[in-house]
Parts: sequence; structure tokens; C-alpha cells
Amino acid sequence: MPNVETVTGPIDADELGTTLIHEHLVFRDEAVLAEWPHAGTVKESEPPVNVDEEGAFEAALESARAVVEHGVKTIAEPTAMFGGRDVRFSRRVAEETGLQVVPCTGIYTYDYLPPYFMFRDEDAMADLFVHDIEEGIQGTDIKAAFLKCAADEPGVTPNIEKVHRAAARASVRTGTPIMAHSRPASETGPRQVEIFIEEGVEPERIQIAHTGDTDDLDYIERLLDTGVFVGMDRYGLEIFLPMEQRNATVTALLERGYAERMFLSQDFCATLDWYPAEVATQMMEAGAAKGWSMTLIFEEVIPALRESGMTDEQLETMMVSNPKRWLTA
Ligand SMILES: [Zn+2]
Repeated sequence: MPNVETVTGPIDADELGTTLIHEHLVFRDEAVLAEWPHAGTVKESEPPVNVDEEGAFEAALESARAVVEHGVKTIAEPTAMFGGRDVRFSRRVAEETGLQVVPCTGIYTYDYLPPYFMFRDEDAMADLFVHDIEEGIQGTDIKAAFLKCAADEPGVTPNIEKVHRAAARASVRTGTPIMAHSRPASETGPRQVEIFIEEGVEPERIQIAHTGDTDDLDYIERLLDTGVFVGMDRYGLEIFLPMEQRNATVTALLERGYAERMFLSQDFCATLDWYPAEVATQMMEAGAAKGWSMTLIFEEVIPALRESGMTDEQLETMMVSNPKRWLTA
């Protein structure tokens, strides 16, 4: 079996085991953190909004330990530029808990790019991604195992297209898979896939994240028809789609034979700096998220899917085989 890079070194793909394909040990803006470290006062909230180092570390440890208790061996950690990617932080979590953490390279933006990239083209951006894949990330020897990019409400703007083409070129040069954050409500997925394919990426190396935010089976099948993987990966984020509808969609797709193309995950962020603590609390109270954690799928989703007919084999395909195939192809 080929190797897969983790923050504690390469492992044999057979050692990946049960894998959560989309979970963040941390999500906080690195520029805000660098410029105003005092903004990281620890606040009690759900999820924690603390951005100070020890508070964030404790929050990551708590989630990592919880998933390990549920038999998870590996998480893919899609925190890229603008999400506070910090592979030394991830390595500390991995060393402390035994959880295997698969890191990425890429840029998480809905449009903005720093001036640095205004005067450099897609290939220069791809060179940086390839550096992370071949040499190592942030001055370490930790290598990226997948590429991350995003399209959201503004759609595939020129800047977003540039990041997608750069990710695609890095993928083609290195054989590394791509995870693309998408927004089904803006139907970004088909255009994202189109760009990757134009650049020569094989569909089985592409994962369109957050496809589970819609229950529009026609839209999802349009994506699946291209041969890509889709992420049913935001369980708990009721604001995008309630759990019952997420489950009904997964069940329908399982019945149509798509077990081999889906991932189950939560897109949980052990730390999230987006909201002031009181806003986060209000949102939770208003039902924007329910039970959102790194373990919700084990506690509530998998039992419900089983009830609706999901077999052990289908579960194994989504949690073990698919991560291995997408990461190694
Ligand atoms: Zn995410």
C-alpha cells in the first residue's frame, strides 16, 4: 500500500483505519492572531471561541481524545491559509492523543487574496503548494497530503478560479488529491469540478466538500456523474441543513448505490474565532447548530442511518475505504 503523510510522518494507507475526512483542530485567522494576540482571551462558549494558544490546544485535545474513544484512527485536517494552519500545533495534538492527523496545503478564501498573489500567477501559487507537498510545511518536514480550496457565496470569482487552477496544477504535478469547500446554495460545485477537470485532475482525486448542505438529489447526482467524491460533512450545522434531511439524503444516495463516493464528517472546529462568545451562544440557542462536535455522527447519525437501512459494509466503505482511495488513488 502507498504511504499517506500525517503530521507525525508517513503511514501505510492501510493504517488509516476509521477516518473523519473533514475536522478542524483549530480555525482562527492567523493575521488577527499575530497582530492582536490579546484578542485571544479565553471565553467559555460552545464551541470555544478562545484563540489563545493553550485554550485552543486544550479544545483540540478534548475533541481528539473524544474521537479516539469512538475508534477513529485518523482525521483529515483541512485548515489551510486564513484558517490558522499550524502543523506544529497539530503534531502536538497527535503526539499527545495518538490520533493520526492528515494535513493539507492551500488557501481558504471566498474571494480575497493578499497583494502577494495579485502579481504572481497560478503557477507561482502552485509552486508554493508543491513545496508543502514535497519539502514540508512551515519549515518542518511535515508534508501536505491533500490540497484545499474554497468557493462560497461570491461564486467562482477570478481570484477563486486562480486558487482552483493552482490547486489543480499542484495536484497534477504531485498526484495529491483536492478537497474543495463548496456552497450548494450557490451551485458552486459543478464549476469547481469543471476547472479541475480542464486542468487534468482525475475525478477520483476530487472531493466536493459540503455537498451534504443540500437535499437536492438532482444537484448531487450531477456532481456524482462526473466521478468525484462528495462530502456529507457538516452534521450538526443545522443552519445549512437539519440532520433529518441530511440523513434522508444520505439514505437515498446509498439506495442509489453511491456508498463509494460519500464521506461522513462534521466540519467541526475545536476552536472557531468567527463569532464573539455571546453571538456564538445566541446562535446555538437559536438552533443554528445542534450537537455539533467531532463525535456527533457516532452518537446520533450512524444509529439513525442504520435504522434506515445502511449496512455495515456501506459504513465501512464511507469511513475506511473511501478515505484510503481518495488519499491514494
Ligand atoms: Zn471545513
